[in-house]
Amino acid sequence: MPFTGKEILIRFDDFCPHMNFGVWDKLEKEIVSIGVKPIIALVPNNKDESLKYSDKACFFWERMRHLQSLGWAIGLHGLNHVLYPSSKSYIKTSKFSEFSGLPLEQQAEMIRTGVEIFSKNFLLPDIWVAPSHGFDKHTLTALKLNGITRISDGYSALPYTDSRGMFWVPQRTWRLSRISLSFSTVCLHINYWDSKKVDNFLGQISLYKDSIIDLKFAEEKYANRPKSPFDDALIAVTNAKVSLNQMRRWSGLRRM
Ligand SMILES: [Zn+2]
Repeated sequence: MPFTGKEILIRFDDFCPHMNFGVWDKLEKEIVSIGVKPIIALVPNNKDESLKYSDKACFFWERMRHLQSLGWAIGLHGLNHVLYPSSKSYIKTSKFSEFSGLPLEQQAEMIRTGVEIFSKNFLLPDIWVAPSHGFDKHTLTALKLNGITRISDGYSALPYTDSRGMFWVPQRTWRLSRISLSFSTVCLHINYWDSKKVDNFLGQISLYKDSIIDLKFAEEKYANRPKSPFDDALIAVTNAKVSLNQMRRWSGLRRM
């Protein structure tokens, strides 16, 4: 097994009724059949034109409910997914946000509206997934006010629960082939995938499926774990590395 001793969570971002169902139909069928239970980051009221790939799917919410009933985690992925430049995010490398810098009352209302849209469609958000990693201290308070205490973000080594009772599940990887640490959330944006990418991924996920865990497993194992000095060191190193990559990209020295 290529990833013996490693724990991998799969996360699919940017789900909405206009997503790319040409790609998702094929992926969903195969992933369900091998029994892997990923996180889906769902935009409750998408207004981001760049996420519109197909006509509105009539059975979108029904499908999401079905996946949640199978043990998949459905995450609240912002409200509208309309992003603006911001340098005020908790994750220092985030450069865009729907939330960071807005007053607490406004953020609480946005999150309340998102949760309400989930609720009208008979879904409960299992976890928070900020669009473009963009959120700040007010977002954390607003999440707690709305009953959301799990966050898929950050660069810690392992999941941990902070002093406010928020359970952090780190996310720093975007490719299954780039797994290095013992715990990884792999974030995937499938809307722009072609059939070659779909086939590659299905080959990989079948190969590594024994190392793939779900959110429930992560919570049962790590919910009582506090953040360690090693987490802090890794967060600092990863921030520095990502910032350096961004500087290089902006200066045209290398592609990220
Ligand atoms: Zn997104």
